[in-house]
Amino acid sequence: MAWFSFHGGHSGEFCRHASGSLAEVLESAVARGFGVYGVSEHAPRERVEDLYSDERDLLPVDLARIFQAYVERATRLREEFADRLEVLVGFETEVVPPDSWLESMQALRAGSSFDYLVGSVHHVEGFGIDVSEQESARAAERVGGGDALRCAYFDQLASMVTGLRPTIVGHFDLIRKFDGASPTFSVDAWKAIERALEAVREAGSLLDVNSAPARRRLGPPYPLPEILERARRMGIGVTLGDDSHGPADVGVGLETCLEAIVVAGYREVTCLRRRVGGTSAEAVPLEEIGPA
Ligand SMILES: [Zn+2]
Ligand SMILES: [Zn+2]
Repeated sequence: MAWFSFHGGHSGEFCRHASGSLAEVLESAVARGFGVYGVSEHAPRERVEDLYSDERDLLPVDLARIFQAYVERATRLREEFADRLEVLVGFETEVVPPDSWLESMQALRAGSSFDYLVGSVHHVEGFGIDVSEQESARAAERVGGGDALRCAYFDQLASMVTGLRPTIVGHFDLIRKFDGASPTFSVDAWKAIERALEAVREAGSLLDVNSAPARRRLGPPYPLPEILERARRMGIGVTLGDDSHGPADVGVGLETCLEAIVVAGYREVTCLRRRVGGTSAEAVPLEEIGPA
């Protein structure tokens, strides 16, 4: 059986809102039957106003230093675990600062030899959209309401995908995080979703089918069933992400992701592998996927 996840591996060692060490996360992946496990720590934010509330004692220069420590540690652990677990080292992007995120993310990517990239959007016009309902409400106010915020989010996602062409697009519809178990989208939001999916298809990126909502009891995996079905009809590939933020999260909820993938009509899920010459994307039939 093949068992893998590529969006996650956040650890308390390098991320204030995660727990445990990176080695403990990888030990948990071994114990829970993973053969391949990708770690994608958050990119460092560059402005004081983008620091989270639990980072108030830090400066952007500290985040940059912590991120470099992550890259070094993850790269070393990749070798140390090699006989037990195929570890891939990547990172998860940001779209802040609003006017220079593309250059920042490109520079970060070019600065180290990553196996892959998770392209994610956590901000619209500099406002966090997954931090709290209050901050999301402020973002909505800024762009002209909740529906406008959804449209702006998916348009931001499309421009991130087009600009960075990430290996994986993280939590495609994160914007509905606080909208309950069965959110609905307006006609305009659906148009924005379709533009974003078209950007994903054009870039050849994979969609992260992400179990974080299941873990936090916030609804079905990202993306919603109707988005996933549309993606399948467009020929967009999918992969798995537990979005783990500590050893206890590793693999949690991935069975709900597999169910959603089956319901959407997929037959295969893509697994990234470290091969001579670079990272390759390999299709794994659904019946061969599960813990070892
Ligand atoms: Zn996080
Ligand atoms: Zn994320």
